[in-house]
Amino acid sequence: MSQIKKKLLAGSRLAFLGSYMENPPRLRLPEIAFAGRSNVGKSSAINRILDSTKAARVSKTPGRTQAINLFEVEERCVFADLPGYGFAKVPEEVKKGWHALIEGYLSEREDLRLVVVLVDIRRKPQQLDADMIWWVRQARIPLLCLPTKMDKLTRNQAMSAVSKIRKNFGLSNEECIPFSAQDGRGVPEVWDCLNRAIAGELEG
Ligand code: GDP
Repeated sequence: MSQIKKKLLAGSRLAFLGSYMENPPRLRLPEIAFAGRSNVGKSSAINRILDSTKAARVSKTPGRTQAINLFEVEERCVFADLPGYGFAKVPEEVKKGWHALIEGYLSEREDLRLVVVLVDIRRKPQQLDADMIWWVRQARIPLLCLPTKMDKLTRNQAMSAVSKIRKNFGLSNEECIPFSAQDGRGVPEVWDCLNRAIAGELEG
């Protein structure tokens, strides 16, 4: 990692490693990627998981929203914040660039141990999310789906929505953890999963 300048964000726990429009450098640490439609709550989820407000702010600065933003967490693993997809008004060129970036990343990233795909619990399962999940499966990378904004539903609505998501996307119970960045539900279960991924215990 010698050529990379780390920018410390929260004491020594978290460091920003850079924004990449293509070929992020190899870091030789277990990597966890986060993907989801724009506005799904990806930044809020990353912040909540890291217990920090700093990481997502960095990814949202102009010029970085269409890039892969890399963060080192406790010198133990890397979080890759992938560009949000599904912007309605994005030109075809940009969409093609995004596809190439993500497909290249998923197929070539040697230290990638898990892809976390966030979906909004209030929306019907979306084709773009199904495509993303299909790519992750094709690349044989372990997958975790986080239905997020769970705090917005009642208990009954939540149970039925989560089971629909599991069924539609072909996910096991372990691969789908109900989550809320607002009230923090799901965070311990997510860390269990991340720790197993970092230890190389999950299969794609
Ligand atoms: P991103 O574009 O995917 O990074 O989404 P953001 O994290 O910026 O969130 C988009 C909007 O959803 C913001 O207004 C957040 O406050 C809101 N949001 C994100 N996560 C949650 C959640 O778990 N619960 C609720 N109620 N709102 C959320």
